[in-house]
Amino acid sequence: MIYQCECLFKTSERADFIDHLLEVFDPGPSDLGTDGQAHTEMAGPGKRMCSCGFTAPNWPAAMDAHLLAAFVTPNGIGTDGKKHATALPAG
Ligand SMILES: [Zn+2]
Ligand SMILES: [Zn+2]
Repeated sequence: MIYQCECLFKTSERADFIDHLLEVFDPGPSDLGTDGQAHTEMAGPGKRMCSCGFTAPNWPAAMDAHLLAAFVTPNGIGTDGKKHATALPAG
């Protein structure tokens, strides 16, 4: 399966696609999501959660989905000013 972003980024790896989205929608040092809360991975020994209190039932898939939901802007415009996919492809 090929995952293609609206910016034309293309990969056959779902993980690479997620990395791409997390990169272009990364709010920077503030870690502030579109919901106004800071989200950052707080993985430690026996502890895998987000700074907002979210606990990922499976890692890293659920955490990635959580971060994307928090960071992807409604209009899909990333920090580079280009439009990117706003939803994860199925699979
Ligand atoms: Zn969070
Ligand atoms: Zn893109």
